[in-house]
Amino acid sequence: MTDELGALAVPQLHTLRPYEPGKPESELARELGLSHIIKLASNENPLGPSPKAILAAQSTLSELHRYPDGNGFILKQKLADLHTIDINSITLGNGSNDILELITRSFLNTERAAIFSRHAFAVYPISVRAVGATAKVSPALPADHPKMPYGHDLSAMLNLIDERVKVIFIANPNNPTGTWIELQALENFLIRVPSSILVVLDEAYFECAQVPDYASAVSLLTKFANLIVTRSFSKMHGLANLRVGYSLSHPRIADYLNRVRQPFNVNGPALAAATAALDDSEHLENSRENNTRGLIQLRSALDNLGLRYLPTAGNFICIELPQLGRDVFNALLKKGIIVRPIDGYELPQFIRVTVGRSDENTRFLTALTEVLSMTTAHA
Ligand SMILES: *Cc1c(COP(=O)(O)O)cnc(C)c1O
Repeated sequence: MTDELGALAVPQLHTLRPYEPGKPESELARELGLSHIIKLASNENPLGPSPKAILAAQSTLSELHRYPDGNGFILKQKLADLHTIDINSITLGNGSNDILELITRSFLNTERAAIFSRHAFAVYPISVRAVGATAKVSPALPADHPKMPYGHDLSAMLNLIDERVKVIFIANPNNPTGTWIELQALENFLIRVPSSILVVLDEAYFECAQVPDYASAVSLLTKFANLIVTRSFSKMHGLANLRVGYSLSHPRIADYLNRVRQPFNVNGPALAAATAALDDSEHLENSRENNTRGLIQLRSALDNLGLRYLPTAGNFICIELPQLGRDVFNALLKKGIIVRPIDGYELPQFIRVTVGRSDENTRFLTALTEVLSMTTAHA
């Protein structure tokens, strides 16, 4: 029997697996009959959206029958002011994932290749392979690296450059590792990358990054026309459900992205909420403080448990375990706590845990302690 449907799919689909999202709370609640579930699996803001963003989204609901502003003018104007950048440098996306896809559709095809690091964000391989381009995966820094274990190795990335490479993806900070790259190292890297290659700096976690040696690459945009920086409203701005992100780039790059962009890719409630969220610096500040305190709480408890974790500039932490991360993930699920196994990122000994509110972190830590003591008792 010939596999007609298999032959129907473009060949590259046979190399892809669907993205594995964090398990929704409602699904676990149904499965376990539990009511009090804690989700620390998708790097969402545990304080929720800004109340101003909620009101702004609500105020658009009577216009649900109208198409949204396909150019997102008001949000773009606000972003242009915020970054003191030409409005034509801004591209809005249905989440920043949409922008990543606009990039692969604009600049890659079956003859071309893209570079990204091992353990980098899962959407890079998916969107590169989806357009039939070649994914060149650079080795990460070693597990025993003194500063950034499993982090991006910029020299290894440079070594993979050849004439087919048109795009390089860098997540700063990276998900799932949490590792980051210092601005000077980034600039030295950009100087060495041929200007015929687009460098994508994914700053989805920019607003969480509180480490002293981290800085955004936005300041480098005027120097490098082949640089594009992406940002998201899904993480610290707490609007993951609405799907809004954006990029800053040379206007020529933005023009190309705009040619393949769907006309109404960002909806009205999302545009309004994102615009309002930018005005609520107090909510953002509270969210950052919660994150900083939460990381202190988690790290000190993990130290007491004798567990190693990766350095993080994000709103999540990767914890190394004495057993498979997926087993710990499953044991925690039974206690109503959802974290993320990251064996799909070739880190089978780890789980990735989003920083929650302090009560949520405490419940996670108690459950983790129980899970680990159970398995040691059996051993
Ligand atoms: C969450 C995440 C994104 C994008 O999220 P959107 O919701 O599509 O804006 C992009 N990059 C990284 C590294 C992420 O973790």
